[in-house]
Amino acid sequence: MDNPFTVALQQIARAAALAPVGKDFLERIRTPEREISVSIPLSMDDGSVRFLEGYRVQHSSLRGPYKGGIRFHPQTNMDEVRALALWMTLKTAVADIPMGGGKGGITVDPKKLSHAELERLSRGWVRALAPVIGPHIDVPAPDVNTTPGIMAWMEEEYASITGDRSGATFTGKPLSRGGSEGRERATSIGGWYVFEALRGKHSLPRSSSVAVQGMGNVGGHAAEIFASAGHPIVAMSDSKNAVYNEKGLDVAALQNHKKKYGSLDAFQGGEKISNEELLELPVDVLLPAALEDQITARNASRIKAKMIVELANGPTTPEADDELLGRGIPVVPDILANSGGVIVSTFEWEQNLAGEHWSETDVLGKLRTILEKQSALVAAKAEGLHTDLRRGAFTLALERLEGAYRQHLLKKLS
Ligand code: GLU
Repeated sequence: MDNPFTVALQQIARAAALAPVGKDFLERIRTPEREISVSIPLSMDDGSVRFLEGYRVQHSSLRGPYKGGIRFHPQTNMDEVRALALWMTLKTAVADIPMGGGKGGITVDPKKLSHAELERLSRGWVRALAPVIGPHIDVPAPDVNTTPGIMAWMEEEYASITGDRSGATFTGKPLSRGGSEGRERATSIGGWYVFEALRGKHSLPRSSSVAVQGMGNVGGHAAEIFASAGHPIVAMSDSKNAVYNEKGLDVAALQNHKKKYGSLDAFQGGEKISNEELLELPVDVLLPAALEDQITARNASRIKAKMIVELANGPTTPEADDELLGRGIPVVPDILANSGGVIVSTFEWEQNLAGEHWSETDVLGKLRTILEKQSALVAAKAEGLHTDLRRGAFTLALERLEGAYRQHLLKKLS
């Protein structure tokens, strides 16, 4: 697997080659402002104690407090978290929201923990990192395998340590605990708004067939949203395997099956295929909604989708980008396509700080306005530079970040 941070740096270099930025700024953006690695003690239900590795990378505060999720995954490590933090900096800049970029994680398989162990571990992450987070410093959120319930434990732990009861340190909380309307579906619905904004340029059929890789919060909601907008979901996968039905899957039935049996095995409504085969299906739209490094030099030449919308972070490598650009397959980059999550997180933070609660109509209306505007700007950048949408989005983000760097940071230094 390619080192994700190396991939992120390559992506920056490729964008900067087309739209040059200052050398000093480039160095600033290539280097995280702060990285923290902690050892979290966890007392297990059987009375034993384990020590788990936890992380927070605070990549950039040029445009606002650090912002980004916390990932619980057995393969999570510092390099991955560092890459994800850098992508958050670019994502908040593309969305033009008043946030910087950060990311956190714990190397753990949460599926192997009991509910009580998961709660103790979540609170343990907060105890280890409380001194460096807060509503105006660093505002974490959910990511892979972290849920609104986990955010509620974390916010509660933070409040009991610091006395801060604003509720604005963690976003993605349950509605009953200061969460925002629309946050749970925000990443997926945002992906759909971006798709709607850009599909016209790429003449996709009114009813486009869709393959979704991943059945977590993002993949699951995306399947529901695209299906209810009249796009048949012909394939879906979880972390083990996939099912395919050319005529369209019954998404609700598939999700119920997964909930009931914990796997897609024995699902009757489609043919069993592998995760790799799902990526190479002849569909109109491919939605990678799982992990990094899925579309690479290895399989890019076999991708048959007419458009890729990256709901996951970092699913496509630069070699694959070149191959897909050469073959005229647009890739809507993660930092635009999945930015709905952090945008609504920012709305949640604003509501918590102001003591307000906005309606779902208000939240989604504001989200759509931002994404339509930024999608058009990204597409215009890409066209102007005769390049792909990723480099369009990166150059837009770098331009905004460099503006903040020159206006604020350099003034402070002089
Ligand atoms: N984890 C999500 C992402 O990668 C959301 C981050 C947030 O809401 O702060 O964009």
